[in-house]
Amino acid sequence: MPEIRFSAALLAGVLCACAARPVETTRTAITPDTLPSRIELGHALEVRRLTDDVWLHVSHKDLPGVGLFPSSGLVVRAPGGILLVDTAWTPEQTRVLLDWVRTALGAEVREVIVTHAHDDRMGGSEVVTAAGATIRALPLTIERASQSGSPLTATPLEPTGELELLGGERVSVFFPGAGHAPDNVVVWLPSHGVLFGGCFVRAGGSTGLGNLADADVASWSAAIRRVIERFPSPTIVVPGHGAPGGPELLHHTRDLVDAARAER
Ligand SMILES: [Zn+2]
Repeated sequence: MPEIRFSAALLAGVLCACAARPVETTRTAITPDTLPSRIELGHALEVRRLTDDVWLHVSHKDLPGVGLFPSSGLVVRAPGGILLVDTAWTPEQTRVLLDWVRTALGAEVREVIVTHAHDDRMGGSEVVTAAGATIRALPLTIERASQSGSPLTATPLEPTGELELLGGERVSVFFPGAGHAPDNVVVWLPSHGVLFGGCFVRAGGSTGLGNLADADVASWSAAIRRVIERFPSPTIVVPGHGAPGGPELLHHTRDLVDAARAER
């Protein structure tokens, strides 16, 4: 409906004028509605639009015995720049993603939240650090990254913290307890109704719990219930691998975890 868009644009203009912040002006200069909903960037990397200001980045890696396997993170457009939730899987894919952000969104990646210390979450950490972005991660994630030989230059996150980043973007980070990994966090973006579950949350099509190398299934059972209780009605839930959905992904994960526990 063009009338509504026009009004919203006018309102945004008025707000910008009141706030008198140059970053807001940059934001309104972007014309994101001309961007297609799914864009292949090459290097086994693509971006998909989830909401007006949130994109999924999906990077694929060729896993032995599995083939090309997708991993998802987020690109969030905030008033003062771009927030990534997790890097792409590899440094090269992350470089391509930063280039796309710069040219398509006209902004720089300034903040990155890493949701646990595995390669699919932080494989591009050196690239984002070199680009001047601030990485934030749990102290345990920083410690585990260092132990794994891929040290993170990161600012410690509180296990349960409300952040306001990049000119007013509200971000809620929640450590529910160990699950897929001892340090997994979920990230809630209240302005967009998006809950990023990462590898702690399984996709709708998943029939199992995935990589259990660092998992604690007993703890995961209580932890997924804490997430359901804390975030009862997210509009969009994004798993670490596979298609986004709604709150049913949280229930699906709970059921998979319970089934895995029953088998043990
Ligand atoms: Zn993982």
